[in-house]
Amino acid sequence: MSLRIVVCVKYVPDATGDRQFADDLTVDREDVDGLLSELDEYAVEQALQISENSDDDVEITVLTVGPEDAKDALRKALSMGADKAVHVEDDDLHGTDVMGTSLVLAKAIEKAGYDLVVTGMASTDGTMGVLPAILAERLGVPQVTLLSEVAVEDGKVTGRRDGDAASEQLEASLPAVVSVTDQSGEARYPSFKGIMAAKKKPVESWDLSDLDIEAEEVGLEGAWTAVDSAAKRPARTAGTIVKDEGEGGKQLAEFLAGQKFI
Ligand SMILES: Cc1cc2nc3c(=O)[nH]c(=O)nc-3n(C[C@H](O)[C@H](O)[C@H](O)COP(=O)(O)OP(=O)(O)OC[C@H]3O[C@@H](n4cnc5c(N)ncnc54)[C@H](O)[C@@H]3O)c2cc1C
Repeated sequence: MSLRIVVCVKYVPDATGDRQFADDLTVDREDVDGLLSELDEYAVEQALQISENSDDDVEITVLTVGPEDAKDALRKALSMGADKAVHVEDDDLHGTDVMGTSLVLAKAIEKAGYDLVVTGMASTDGTMGVLPAILAERLGVPQVTLLSEVAVEDGKVTGRRDGDAASEQLEASLPAVVSVTDQSGEARYPSFKGIMAAKKKPVESWDLSDLDIEAEEVGLEGAWTAVDSAAKRPARTAGTIVKDEGEGGKQLAEFLAGQKFI
């Protein structure tokens, strides 16, 4: 038996950098450093653990839709231990929203072949957290989202979803889409051996024509949502310093009451 896992990984702008909107109100991805979304490292980790705990032949493909530099995210996932990578890149993807991104991912996953798709719980830039569900709908397969524990056995994926009031044990027959949370287990660091091995692993590049997608279905033209305006958040102002010269406690309480904290 063999199991084909596709892990969706997103290349996101570094949250510690100065992020900007471009003139057309899309996120400026050209002038900022990026990296593999931290929440997608958990998805790669869970795929690797499924492989390590399996008696089957498991092949892990990491997939990203993103600009040229998104290859860095694929390299990191490959150095963690994934087997191969697919990069979908096309100038017409500029301005694509979640509907377009999910279409491209679905077509790429079908082309790659899969039994299980693993995603993060949300990206660290868009943070919509809806892509896994839309993806499952497009693929026509079950979705089991927000898992903090995941396993594959006997043609089924099982897992635990922890909510505020209860923990649910869920299962779905394969093929399926799962998303995993940041509680699913710490993601491993790539070893030196892993980093060297990743350089030799295959990375395929596909564009929209490879996936039979028309330019009008994606990009700003195909987006279901539009950003009408955006304003930079005002710079932080200096905080209020309360010096305790006998009245400090009172002043502090007045300040908190003034801000409606108490
Ligand atoms: C070149 C390019 C330009 C874009 N421009 C815009 C824009 O101008 N405006 C806009 O609204 N959106 C744009 N997008 C799409 C946007 O960045 C998101 O990918 C998409 O809207 C999904 O939203 P999210 O990241 O919040 O998804 P979530 O639902 O938060 O993501 C959940 C999971 O889905 C997977 N995932 C999400 N995105 C990708 C991806 N690209 N590749 C692989 N896996 C992924 C990850 O596993 C992630 O953890 C662009 C995307 C690309 C590739």
